[in-house]
Amino acid sequence: MSGKKSLQRNGSAPEINIALLGSLGVGKSALTVKYITKRFIMEYDPDIEDTYTKHESWNNRDITIQVMDTCDKENSDPLRYLRWADAFIVVYSITSQASFEKAKEYLETVNQHKKTFCKESVPVALLGNKIDLERYRQVSKAEGTKLASDYMCLFYEATAAEEYEYVEEVFHGLILYLLQYKNCYLPHLYISEEKPPTGQMPVRPKSPKGTSERKDEKDSKGIPKKNTSSFKLFNKSFKIFN
Ligand code: GDP
Ligand code: MG
Repeated sequence: MSGKKSLQRNGSAPEINIALLGSLGVGKSALTVKYITKRFIMEYDPDIEDTYTKHESWNNRDITIQVMDTCDKENSDPLRYLRWADAFIVVYSITSQASFEKAKEYLETVNQHKKTFCKESVPVALLGNKIDLERYRQVSKAEGTKLASDYMCLFYEATAAEEYEYVEEVFHGLILYLLQYKNCYLPHLYISEEKPPTGQMPVRPKSPKGTSERKDEKDSKGIPKKNTSSFKLFNKSFKIFN
C-alpha cells in the first residue's frame, strides 16, 4: 500500500481507517466506545479485538471512519493493523509508567513500518489516557510531549471517562490531518488556517445560524450527522469552508 493512496475508495464517501494500539488496560476499548457512542463503558472484555464504523459529516460531506480496537496477544501479527490503518493512535495511561514504555515500542514498530513501506505521511497520535486520575499520575505531560516530538507525532492527553470532546479532539485531529495532507478528494471543501487560499472559487464560511439548524440532521441510517465548522490542530484553529 503506498503512502499516497487515495482515501476515497469505491468512488464513494472517503473511508479512513484508524487503529488504536497500546498495552492491556490503557483504555483502548473505552476510547473506541466513547468515540463511537459518546458513552463510557466501565468494563469491557479485555480479549476482544474488533473494528467499528462511524459516519461523520463535515459540511454535508460524508466520511466513513473505521476504528480498530486492537488487542495484541503473544505471537499475534502486527501486520494486521500496520497494513490496514491510515492513521494510528498509540495509547498509554498517565497512571502507568510501564504502559508509557510499551507505547514507545509501539511508536517504534509503526515508525519502522512507515519507513519500510514509504508511508511517511501516515499520521500517528500519542495519547496519554486517564487524566481524570491525575492523583495517580506517573507519566508527566512533559515526558509525553517529548516522546511525541521524538517521533514527530501529534500529542494529546485525554480521558474516556469524562467529556466526549476529549476523545473527539484526538480522532478529529487525525481526520483533519488526513483530509488536509493526503490525496483525499473532497470537492467543495478545503481547510484554511485563516482565510480561503487565493484563486479559489468564492466561498463563504457557514453562518453559525446555519450550523445550528443542521445540528439534528440524520443520515440514511438514522445516525445523527455532525456539522463542525472549526477544529484545533497543532494548537491552531482551523476553519472549514465550503
Ligand atoms: P484496553 O485493554 O486498552 O482496551 O483497556 P479498557 O478500555 O478495557 O480499559 C481498562 C480499564 O480502564 C477499564 O476498567 C476501564 O473502565 C478503565 N478506563 C479506561 N479509560 C479510562 C479513563 O479514561 N479513566 C478511567 N478512570 N478509567 C478508564
Ligand atoms: Mg480492549
